[in-house]
Amino acid sequence: MAGKAGLSKSLILKGMQCPKALYLQKNPPDFEIPEDPAREAKFKAGHEVGILAQQLFPGGTEVPFEGLSVPEQIKQTRQLIDSGAEVIYEASFEYDGIFVKVDILVRDGDAWQIHEVKMSTSVKEVNLNDVAIQFYVLGQAGLLISAAYLVHINNQYVRQGEVDVQQLFSSQDVLEEAVARQAGLPELIDGLRTDLLGGEPQIDIGPHCSDPYDCDFIPYCWQHIPENSIFDLRGNGVKKWGLYEQGIIRFDQIPLEMLNKNQRHQVEATLNQEDSIDNDAVAAFLDTLWYPLYHLDFETFNTAIPKFDGTRPYQQVPFQYSLHVQKTAGAEPEHHEFLAEPGDDPRRQLIEQLLDLIPENGCVLTYNQTFEKSVLRDFADLFPDLAFEIGKRLENVRDLMVPFRRRDVYRWQMRGSYSIKEVLPAMVPGLSYNGMAVADGMAAMQAYHDMCAMKPGEDLEQLRRAMLEYCQLDTLAMVLVLEKLSKVAS
Ligand code: SF4
Repeated sequence: MAGKAGLSKSLILKGMQCPKALYLQKNPPDFEIPEDPAREAKFKAGHEVGILAQQLFPGGTEVPFEGLSVPEQIKQTRQLIDSGAEVIYEASFEYDGIFVKVDILVRDGDAWQIHEVKMSTSVKEVNLNDVAIQFYVLGQAGLLISAAYLVHINNQYVRQGEVDVQQLFSSQDVLEEAVARQAGLPELIDGLRTDLLGGEPQIDIGPHCSDPYDCDFIPYCWQHIPENSIFDLRGNGVKKWGLYEQGIIRFDQIPLEMLNKNQRHQVEATLNQEDSIDNDAVAAFLDTLWYPLYHLDFETFNTAIPKFDGTRPYQQVPFQYSLHVQKTAGAEPEHHEFLAEPGDDPRRQLIEQLLDLIPENGCVLTYNQTFEKSVLRDFADLFPDLAFEIGKRLENVRDLMVPFRRRDVYRWQMRGSYSIKEVLPAMVPGLSYNGMAVADGMAAMQAYHDMCAMKPGEDLEQLRRAMLEYCQLDTLAMVLVLEKLSKVAS
């Protein structure tokens, strides 16, 4: 295939999202793209799901990616087919310089079934293209395809005991869609190859940068977008790409009448570095709280494959909390915390401890009550014997986010956001999450997974300390923000 650029299924999909992304992948720019730990974690999780899905068709043989060259993988696949294999995992094929691996290939008489595994809970357009490319290459390589399925996670499944793979996965027949996409594929692939022969494609940024996936090259292509741009506007209301096409990028270029009330407020406050406060509204909010006050924050994880009994795929499962208790207004807070031991189901111990600490009549302060309330409700469903007690605490949950969401108090440094990550440094200058080893909920979730995967001798204590420090700051932030709120209101 002299002269033709070698492609893989994922490179073609990348090129379908943006030919420039494909070009940059093949010709890396002289620019350091920061590592993205979330992408790596997602890749690992997807791999785990793929391995588990193999149990849907047990007894197959895997063609490994590691340790074998592409020609060796293709040769091994051919040998398995010729020797009568019924099921092949990661079966590898090439046609016209296009390399694909099929998650699960199942013999069906004289033909074969394609089973492509995804960790999502539904089928997306990009997945149909994925299967279509496999169908194309396998067909051209001489295989008759009788069926093509997208195997995805069934989010209604509830784990009880060992994972039931038949229940965890749902399969959707996508043969028709794969066939319908065949006619356009050769031309599309030729077009991508032609693009690769030129220099870096002149493609501007656009909605395609995050559809269907966040592109790896955003840091490179978005260098010309300054701070306080139309892309920093919060909420809906104005068509950002429409403004961009008109050359309107910075806040000071935006005609204010185009913006909704909150966005206008954000832009004006930023440009004039202006704060605002509605003292009566803040005072009314503070009147809804009482002492003793229990500042509460949970950390949760979710996984495609439920980890514990009674949980569904992607259900938020708590593994940590931080609690700062203030007996009276302005009193020095007492701190309590819980962090699960690696691998154990922590839920019963966690909720029992919390119910001991928070009395029935305590005011429970959260930041974004929807989340903490849903965690408490899940506890009540899981432990009916505690449901009444939990219900009592639920009645007393209050939300410190409310005055910030309503913009009763607004500091221009909040950048239109009411997330605690923006509110804390704006309200309590000098204190922020910057530089922490674990600095947000996603990182905490990843730290929990890392902790569960640690081997003896690895520095578990250092990781636990980082997790505890982060969660503690979440509730300490609430104590300090509330204190500040009381001061500014008076
Ligand atoms: S950041 Fe946007 S324009 Fe740049 S390569 Fe990615 S999708 Fe294309």
